[in-house]
Amino acid sequence: MSMLSFALVLGFLGLFFGSFAGAMVWRLRALQLREDRGAGEPVTKAESTQVRHIKRTKLTDDRSVCLKCGHRLAWFDLIPIISWLQLGGKCRYCHKAIGWTEPLLELSVSTFFVVSYIFWPYPLDSTIAILQLALWMVAGVGLAILFVYDSKWFLLPDRVMFVLVGLAALFSLTTLDGLENPLPQLMNIGMAVIVLSGLYYLIYVFSRHQWVGFGDVKLGLVLALLLADWRLALLALFLANLVGTLVMLPMMLSGKLKRGAHVPFGPFLIAGWLLSGLFGAQIIDWYLLFTLGST
Ligand SMILES: [Zn+2]
Repeated sequence: MSMLSFALVLGFLGLFFGSFAGAMVWRLRALQLREDRGAGEPVTKAESTQVRHIKRTKLTDDRSVCLKCGHRLAWFDLIPIISWLQLGGKCRYCHKAIGWTEPLLELSVSTFFVVSYIFWPYPLDSTIAILQLALWMVAGVGLAILFVYDSKWFLLPDRVMFVLVGLAALFSLTTLDGLENPLPQLMNIGMAVIVLSGLYYLIYVFSRHQWVGFGDVKLGLVLALLLADWRLALLALFLANLVGTLVMLPMMLSGKLKRGAHVPFGPFLIAGWLLSGLFGAQIIDWYLLFTLGST
C-alpha cells in the first residue's frame, strides 16, 4: 500500500477513534458525578443536568444517547463528521444543538493519526517499530480524552490515566529493542521521567497542591514514558509553557481570564508532548545549529 493510501486509511480510522473518545468523555463524566454523589461530595444541579440522560455508565456500553433529550442514537446518527454536518450540528430527535466538541475531537484524532504517521521520526522497518507507532497512536486517543476532560472540568480521570501508564510503559520498552546494552537507554527513560514527572511532583509538594494537581504529576509520567528521551522531555516542558503563555496571554490582556483563575495545564502539556515527540529532534538540531552557528 502506498504511503498516501495508508495515510487516508489512518485518517478514516482516526475519525472513529475520535468519536469513541467523545463518547468516553461523557460516560466518564457521568460515572464520576455518580461516584462523587455516592461519596457525599457536592454535585451541583447544573452538573447533574448535563449528564442526566446517561443512565448506563458502563464504559464499554455501545449505546449512545443524545445528551439533551436522551433519545438513543442510531448508527446513522453516529457517523463521524457526516452525521453532524447533515444534521447541521443538531440532534435529529429534539433539534437541540449537539455542540462542537464531538466533531472537533473526531477531526483532531484523525489529523493526529495522519500527522503522526507522516512525520514519525523513526524508521518503520520492523514489527516492533510499527508496534511503537501503534502504541503512540492509541495512547494519543487516551490523551485526547484527557485533553477534553481537563479543559472542561479541570480533572484528569484515573481510569484513563492507568490505561495510559500501561501503554506508555510498553512504548518505552519498545525503545530498548535491538540494543546490545539497554542500560543507557533505561537511564535516559528514567531521566525523562524525572524531568517531566519529578518536576511536577516538586511543584505539587511545594505549592501545597495549589499550582498543579497530582493528575499533572501522573500525566508527566505518561508523557515522559511516551517520549523515552530526557532531551525530548525537557523540550516538551518548554513547549508546553510556551504554548500555554501564547494561549493565555491574550486572554489575560483582554480581561477574559482573571489573575489567579484556575487554568488546567494538562492540555498544554499534551500539546508540548506532541510537538516534541514528532518534531523534537529537528527542533533540537535547528537550535544547536543556530546557537553554535552564531558564536
Ligand atoms: Zn436530542
